[in-house]
Amino acid sequence: MSSSDSEKSRQVDVGTKGMVVTSHPLASQVGARVLRRGGNAVDAAVAIQFALNVAEPMMSGIGGGGFMMVYNRRTEKISVVDSRERAPKGARPDMFLDEDGHVIPFSVRSTHGNAVGVPGTLKGLETALDRWGTRPMSVLMQPAIRMASRGIKVNWVLADAIEDHREKLSKTAAKEVFLPDGEPLKEGDRLVQKDLARTLRMIQLFGTDVFYQGRIGRAIAKTVREHGGTMKDKDLRRYRLTIDRPVRGDYKGYEVASMPPPSSGGITALQILNLLERFDMDDVDVRSPEKYHLFAEASRLAYADRGAYIGDPQFVDVPMQGMLNEEYLEERAEEIDRSRANPDIQPGDPWSYQEGGEPGNRVEQPDDRQMGETTHFTVADRWGNLVSYTSTIEQLFGTGIMVPGYGIMLNNELTDFDAVPGGPNEVRPGKRPMSSMTPTIVLKDGDPVMTVGSPGGSTIIASVAQTILHVLEYDLPLKQAIEEPRIYTKTYPSIRWEEGIPADVRDQLEAMGHRFQNNPRDIGNVNAIWIDPDTGRYHGAGDSTRESTAIGVGGRRK
Ligand code: GLU
Repeated sequence: MSSSDSEKSRQVDVGTKGMVVTSHPLASQVGARVLRRGGNAVDAAVAIQFALNVAEPMMSGIGGGGFMMVYNRRTEKISVVDSRERAPKGARPDMFLDEDGHVIPFSVRSTHGNAVGVPGTLKGLETALDRWGTRPMSVLMQPAIRMASRGIKVNWVLADAIEDHREKLSKTAAKEVFLPDGEPLKEGDRLVQKDLARTLRMIQLFGTDVFYQGRIGRAIAKTVREHGGTMKDKDLRRYRLTIDRPVRGDYKGYEVASMPPPSSGGITALQILNLLERFDMDDVDVRSPEKYHLFAEASRLAYADRGAYIGDPQFVDVPMQGMLNEEYLEERAEEIDRSRANPDIQPGDPWSYQEGGEPGNRVEQPDDRQMGETTHFTVADRWGNLVSYTSTIEQLFGTGIMVPGYGIMLNNELTDFDAVPGGPNEVRPGKRPMSSMTPTIVLKDGDPVMTVGSPGGSTIIASVAQTILHVLEYDLPLKQAIEEPRIYTKTYPSIRWEEGIPADVRDQLEAMGHRFQNNPRDIGNVNAIWIDPDTGRYHGAGDSTRESTAIGVGGRRK
């Protein structure tokens, strides 16, 4: 399903003093209110994250983690608050294998206590507010608390999610909340989350210590253990986030600042763009076979390196400079034949373009993962500060485990680790699983012109790279760039695709060796802002794959 006409009309807006784009109208309203009352982009982002926890409980929340990218206008610096979940101390590299050494099926390992990473979101929000915020967390949480205790109307996105995951939800305390009387809530029903409201109130009153050092943390750890995991109170006490600098690269005279490891997002998106830049695309139409072919080939090359080299940089050396080295990418681009799909794409050797390190060690993984779908939102304020934030509990509703009495959905982020150990992304205690989340800010001559990001597991990278391509190579207005059908391919020959790619184009691509999946499917949910370099005006645009809503402050619509 996708959004109705009236929803679509709310997916674009213009603002002179601020902009909020999120995947839920209530969360966008909450954020816009913070901006109108004089809060800055980080204040609004914190309020939005709490509101999304309530309105989009299947996508993100305090039981998960995420990457908040912040552009600080005053210092002109971009930082990322990395609140990625970490493996507890008791986690083991082989914890997703059974006694015979076989990988435990995804449906089982993704709903087990071992899949739950130590949540980072709340710490991330607190840290961001301490650094850049101007409003107390207790005030910014208030709208979410009201929404949770009074209830909100279930939209089609949430109704579909509950229906699709009823089995998983039926097995835990989530059942009473999302399937009262055993029946899934439907579109238009009211979702009331009393326990979650109480938990948020506790945090409002006692601060985040009650989560990381107190009774909420104890309840989380206990619930995880009851579901077979190892998490202890101590794991929550020990949780540490990092504040990082983005990875940067050039594309078409613009600078792209994106998410560094433990996310694969920034490096992989930059590799794709950089490979594409080596091909003259002036006469390549946006819906032509050539465009999809080049994008598919560049993607497969970049994803091959991703699997071999990227992991948590606190645990493994990632050859970042090598992977983005011009000569290295020149060499990689030679693997692309303009007339046919390359059936044999292997990881390259970026270490030969950088000191130190070992050649990559890609360990074959089962292809049984379901793609995660979480949330991306973005905010701009009147001072020019920006937030580009992708936030997750991994799969829809995470593990499906709700902490009884607390209303918190627990993530299954640790399934982002390799199930088969031996590679850079194997499980280790304290380690962060490799992510694909790609919150990004694009700059021209040092000034930001665009924020972009998407949910969608490993498809995120393709969604972000294509949106940038559509704006910077094809000059499409932002909304059109987002709606332009996307493809996703990681390995030869399969291509996942969105509706709108003409049949004859697909036929030609098949003749070149690509294989299109039988049916089109939505890919991701891109929410973005374009900052007009001449007027400084914010143009917000959201994706019709959900009820995305853009609200400009100081714009036409108030
Ligand atoms: N767990 C996924 C990742 O970190 C995110 C899922 C999503 O955002 O859709 O890459």
